[in-house]
Amino acid sequence: MPYLVRERLFIGNISDAADILGNGSSEITHVLSLLSSASISFFTEWRGSLSIPTKEIRKVYVGSSGVDDDSGSCSKSSLSSDKLLYAMEYAGKDLKMVRMAVPIRDMESENLLDYLDVCLDFIEESRKEGSVLVHCFAGVSRSAAIITAYLMRSERLSQEDALESLRESCESVSPNDGFLEQLKMFEEMGFKVDHASPIYKRFRLKVLGDSYNRGEKIDSSNFGADPGLPEAVASPEKGAYPDENRNPIPAFRCKKCRRLVALQENVVDHIPGEGETCFGWHKRSGNPYGKPVEFDCSSIFVEPLRWMKAVEEGALEGKLSCVHCDARLGYFNWSGIQCSCGSWITPAFQLHKSRVDISTV
Ligand SMILES: [Zn+2]
Ligand SMILES: [Zn+2]
Repeated sequence: MPYLVRERLFIGNISDAADILGNGSSEITHVLSLLSSASISFFTEWRGSLSIPTKEIRKVYVGSSGVDDDSGSCSKSSLSSDKLLYAMEYAGKDLKMVRMAVPIRDMESENLLDYLDVCLDFIEESRKEGSVLVHCFAGVSRSAAIITAYLMRSERLSQEDALESLRESCESVSPNDGFLEQLKMFEEMGFKVDHASPIYKRFRLKVLGDSYNRGEKIDSSNFGADPGLPEAVASPEKGAYPDENRNPIPAFRCKKCRRLVALQENVVDHIPGEGETCFGWHKRSGNPYGKPVEFDCSSIFVEPLRWMKAVEEGALEGKLSCVHCDARLGYFNWSGIQCSCGSWITPAFQLHKSRVDISTV
């Protein structure tokens, strides 16, 4: 039996969903399925005797979903653009129910963040029209993570308070640690997935590092646009011409030949002095002198950019050289590089401040 979380909002497992889709329900009108496959065949593979009729409404892929088209490279989602974001279909007895299926695996490394917007919006809309069941396989991790995020956004609750509140309805919920971490980021970004936020940029880089470590091919579609090419700055296909009246954008150029190598939006900030070699008394909260410790970072770290041919070739580490004059600009290492301030950045795409000039575009 599904558990009631809020008015018109239920959490359940796969057998709750199978029962509702197979036999109909006097109450549930919408189903949000969070399973490793979006296809309804997942149910028949799980229990051969089941037969659930469906009629497709639409399938939305990451690249066509509109989540990518704000402006420039900093607004990219961390999902590759050919990935299915969700499938929407009429389902169940007399095709009376609307099912949204989102392919998410219950793994700590799974990208939950980039599915939140579509899931939370679906829950929101469904509750206006009827009642929604949010389910995964066991009803413990994925569905709980999504409902926690929903409660966070709709009731402005911290991750801890939202989860605590959900536990009052359903004791057994327990999102995996990777999901909890991402829900914390969601809270820190103000209950939205802000692609321009440093928190999101670090997350995006970590997702990319995870896929590299799994041996997946990292092609340049995952990289930021080359700011040295005219179309990258203007992005004409996306209609994102820079606003004439806007403040100049800080940019980094090769010191030797002045070629543009990175924009401010490509920079992935880190907190100076935090990381593996950082001792307790350096932490922001635990500084015994009550004043911030001054750190000097001799490098900037950026997202991988399309001019970084050595990265595209798949090496674990290597030099980053200017595409125009071949001057050495920095170094990259998928396993991480330690900044002069002590912080570890993983993966790292590093430009030495001594090799680049800061100017504007
Ligand atoms: Zn640093
Ligand atoms: Zn150069």
